[in-house]
Amino acid sequence: MSYSKPVTAALRLKCGVCNEGKVFERRMQFRDQCEVCGQDFSIADTADGPAYFVGFALLILTMPFAVVLSIAELSLGAKLFGYALLVALTGLLIFVLLPIVKALFLNLQIFHRAGQIKFK
Ligand SMILES: [Zn+2]
Repeated sequence: MSYSKPVTAALRLKCGVCNEGKVFERRMQFRDQCEVCGQDFSIADTADGPAYFVGFALLILTMPFAVVLSIAELSLGAKLFGYALLVALTGLLIFVLLPIVKALFLNLQIFHRAGQIKFK
């Protein structure tokens, strides 16, 4: 099995095992198991990893625009419009990227059979 299967499945918000079943019951809430192959999704826990990576990536992408906007010689109205546009764009990117990254984390954890450490 190659790495491309869980990644391409995550881009379509699908199960990384069968590439057909949906991973989310509702937006951002995982199903208990895959509706097609029966893969148990409760064995993986993405926690706050997806939010961390998406937030960090968007910080790197948007911060230069915020800095340039703050030092640009523009009217107050133009700056406020620019900030509003930047906030709206950031919100849109979060809305699009977060489910994909969350599905990717789930698929990769299942692919690598990652689980909780069991102490004896
Ligand atoms: Zn499946």
